[in-house]
Amino acid sequence: MADSDIRKGHCLCGAVTLAARITSDGIMACHCQQCQRWTGGGPLINVRVADVALSGEDAITHVRNSEWGERGFCGTCGSTLYWRMQDGEISSLAIGLFDDQSGWTMKEEIFTDRRPDWLPHFDGASQSTEAEEFAKLDKYLEGDAS
Ligand SMILES: [Zn+2]
Ligand SMILES: [Zn+2]
Repeated sequence: MADSDIRKGHCLCGAVTLAARITSDGIMACHCQQCQRWTGGGPLINVRVADVALSGEDAITHVRNSEWGERGFCGTCGSTLYWRMQDGEISSLAIGLFDDQSGWTMKEEIFTDRRPDWLPHFDGASQSTEAEEFAKLDKYLEGDAS
């Protein structure tokens, strides 16, 4: 993936617009129950990004549903924008915001034991359970504290 792959997007109402450098053509799905409720059904599907430029930041509302993470959404139209570590950088964005989703492949599914029965898994995507994800998070948080 070229370093210069900058893509643009916006929320449903247009109050929040963004441009971001796409750092991987592999997208990922989170099947955790918080994401299912937040998106209104199905997983939260993200693409990894860097150098995020946002306009309309005043329209963004944050909600904290865990001790470590926070979710950003448009306070006007409700569009899902991103999940990030609290006060951390935005390192992934919801794919539906982007005008151009070409060239992306589902590579990673997490919280797979929370995936509902009606939703098949993506062929070729790595699979990781809730317990595996929390083990990774614990390691990350321990590293953060030291
Ligand atoms: Zn909006
Ligand atoms: Zn999730």
